[in-house]
Amino acid sequence: MKYDVAVIGAGPAGAMASKYAALNGAKTLLIEEHASIGSPVQCTGLISKAALTECEISEGSFVLAKMKGAFVYSPGGEELTIRGKDVKAYVIDRKLFDRELVGRSIDTGADLMLKTRFMGLHHGRISVLSSGERKDIHADIVIGADGIMGSVGRAAGLPRCKKFLSGIQFEAPYDACDAQFVEIFTGNKFAPGFFAWAVPFGRMARIGLAKNAGDRPALHYLEELIKHPVLASRYRGSRTEHVVGGIPLGAPERTVKDNVMLVGDAAGQVKPTSGGGVYMGAVCAKIAGEVAARAARKEMDIKEYEKKWRSAVGRELALGMIIHKSLGKLSDENLNEFISFLNRPGMSECITEYGDMDHPSVLLKEMLKGADKMRLVRLLGVAFKTLF
Ligand SMILES: Cc1cc2nc3c(=O)[nH]c(=O)nc-3n(C[C@H](O)[C@H](O)[C@H](O)COP(=O)(O)OP(=O)(O)OC[C@H]3O[C@@H](n4cnc5c(N)ncnc54)[C@H](O)[C@@H]3O)c2cc1C
Repeated sequence: MKYDVAVIGAGPAGAMASKYAALNGAKTLLIEEHASIGSPVQCTGLISKAALTECEISEGSFVLAKMKGAFVYSPGGEELTIRGKDVKAYVIDRKLFDRELVGRSIDTGADLMLKTRFMGLHHGRISVLSSGERKDIHADIVIGADGIMGSVGRAAGLPRCKKFLSGIQFEAPYDACDAQFVEIFTGNKFAPGFFAWAVPFGRMARIGLAKNAGDRPALHYLEELIKHPVLASRYRGSRTEHVVGGIPLGAPERTVKDNVMLVGDAAGQVKPTSGGGVYMGAVCAKIAGEVAARAARKEMDIKEYEKKWRSAVGRELALGMIIHKSLGKLSDENLNEFISFLNRPGMSECITEYGDMDHPSVLLKEMLKGADKMRLVRLLGVAFKTLF
């Protein structure tokens, strides 16, 4: 078998990269180790409107709910309401969503091989285990879209992402106070260094957390979370699905080597402020697909991918990492002060106007223009000081 471009991993990043390689004239193969697309699911499925636009699909049967805002709870229990003017995000069924994206890639001309695991790279060939049989496939360019485990990056000798958060979640019946609002829980008791959530859809919710610190396993914090007074009043006790997974943060120094490029979680293209990877992965995958097709025709150097994706999202990722590191080190007392500061009149309007889950730097810039600039600088100063 001979292909111009082989994409390993049929998650959102692999689907978009293979679609764009095929769209740009490359004979493209998409490889997935599982027997079906989109499972097992390791996601809360909360994506912005911009993510849907970036994935070039409109609302479909995969949309389970539409979100207009969030209730954020400080460790001390203060509630901050972030109210969007219209729909800000969707709760999606990742299985259906991933299938829709892969379907579009196939429609564009990519071939798909399921039950096929990437095993290694050998001089312009990839070796795979396909339905139990070892095969070699020729590919001029290989795109590793194989998620957090990143076996393509390892085989190519590319460095790993800088850090990994550990996430845990379950799905359960839930009596949401407002089913159009996500709930965010902060505090070292529930999610040290990051945050916990309840994302409602219909009469259910995905309840979980990601942690960046703390010496206990994620399950311990999940058990603490369900005792939170807000959650305890809405969650009735049974669970329908469990998810455990890692979230990579901080792109490695290099994502291209020889004829290999990495994209999506495999390249750490994940928002450090939220742990969301669908939007950034799609932005970068489209670049990867196009560069791969052109590099296979020797019209472009494969290294252009590194330059192009970093110029598209590198600044936002770097700023997000600074915000992630600084907020992640705040004590519960500092977090209480921070949330109470955001709750002041004027501030919440600013959040409503400029809050963008894909680009937190836009909001930060606007907040720094406000009358309370010095207090914000002092609070951020507390956060930044904890970094060093
Ligand atoms: C608990 C949790 C909650 C999350 N919630 C959100 C959220 O609400 N919103 C959001 O945007 N993001 C969220 N994320 C992150 C999001 O799930 C990922 O960023 C996203 O799935 C990355 O897409 P990807 O295509 O890069 O990788 P993946 O979706 O991981 O896809 C990689 C694919 O590669 C395949 N694969 C791996 N190795 C091989 C191999 N050797 N051979 C062949 N195939 C292989 C896998 O089977 C998989 O299908 C969450 C993550 C976790 C853990």
